[in-house]
Amino acid sequence: MLLGLVPPWCVGSVDLQMDQKRVVIEVHWPDDHSISCPDCGTECRMKDHRDERRWRHLDTMRFETIITCRVPRSDCPEHGVKTIKVPWASPHSRFTLMFERFAIEVLYGARSITQATALLGLSWDQAQAIQERAVERGISRRKLEDIKYVGIDEKNFGRGHDYVSVMSDIAKGCVLNVVPERTKEATEALWETIPEAHRGSIRAVAMDMWEAFMNVTNEKASKADIVHDKFHVAKYLGEAVDKVRKQENRELLEQGKDVLKGTKFLWLRNPKNWSENQKTHFESFRDEQLKVSRAWAIRQSFNGFWEYWYRKSAEKYFRQWYYWATHSRLAPIIEVAKTLNRHLAGMLNYCKHRITNAVAEGLNSKIQSLKANARGFRNFEHYRISILFHCGKLDVYP
Ligand SMILES: [Zn+2]
Repeated sequence: MLLGLVPPWCVGSVDLQMDQKRVVIEVHWPDDHSISCPDCGTECRMKDHRDERRWRHLDTMRFETIITCRVPRSDCPEHGVKTIKVPWASPHSRFTLMFERFAIEVLYGARSITQATALLGLSWDQAQAIQERAVERGISRRKLEDIKYVGIDEKNFGRGHDYVSVMSDIAKGCVLNVVPERTKEATEALWETIPEAHRGSIRAVAMDMWEAFMNVTNEKASKADIVHDKFHVAKYLGEAVDKVRKQENRELLEQGKDVLKGTKFLWLRNPKNWSENQKTHFESFRDEQLKVSRAWAIRQSFNGFWEYWYRKSAEKYFRQWYYWATHSRLAPIIEVAKTLNRHLAGMLNYCKHRITNAVAEGLNSKIQSLKANARGFRNFEHYRISILFHCGKLDVYP
């Protein structure tokens, strides 16, 4: 009963090996019972038995529990000799279904595969294989018919400029796929995730202003609008403010003034999140004619752009902002303003589709923590499986 066996499967013997802390349960199909072909279900004669196989089952009272069976083979007049299916395990698995379900729970709860292996008494490769099969099952069951909003984003992987590109379902808040690099080929590979027949339902794709992402998306999902979302725009503007600060700090230090020393995060952080100290600090800049203050004000005022619901009003707002920014005599700000101007259509699409890559940004911390446990992720495919396992919202159980 505990094994979930259905007749005529029956337990032959139970061998309690005290010294090894192990229980071995022998299961068999009675010789005098008829058998059916796994392909057509026709009752036929039993040909013979395969060699003994073993499956790891859930522990019994902390004793490792093994099921053994010599699985019979049927002899169908039409399909020939076939090994029949066993009800306690998936084909080719060395674990019972119950154990595999439990292992998946542990993998979800554990901080890393290494930690899960210790809890499960498995090797790293065995645990990895369970995770991989779980993801395969989930992907084969996944429905991609009605996706409306897709996000495409890049993430750092490993050191320096190694990137991975991530495709996510914005409404569902889950990762659809991960591929190495952020090239044209990478973006094409990402789009292979959603069959062409299902891409018609996609209304918009949120992404960075990265050429490869844009060009390939226009080609592969031609009906979808491209939306450049506020997170990416904010990132560019923030970088520009920081460049202005660095340059100005250098100039001021040469004149023996250190007013900008240690202010990096003051300028980068949202004023809503300023500490009391930072507020006071900011106030003290009031009377100084600082370039970084101007750059900061230009960046802050861009937030107003995202409030508009009408394209024409948003465009008008942008034009005013653009005039201000490009006449600021602050080179980094002028450069970003020009970039934004070139991608204005994609930013204006935000009026129509209020989507952002915030979901992907939220998944980001999860993905980062998976990377932190990356002992086994020297291999990209392992990293990918782990992201899909934890962030794919897949139906992974056997
Ligand atoms: Zn048959």
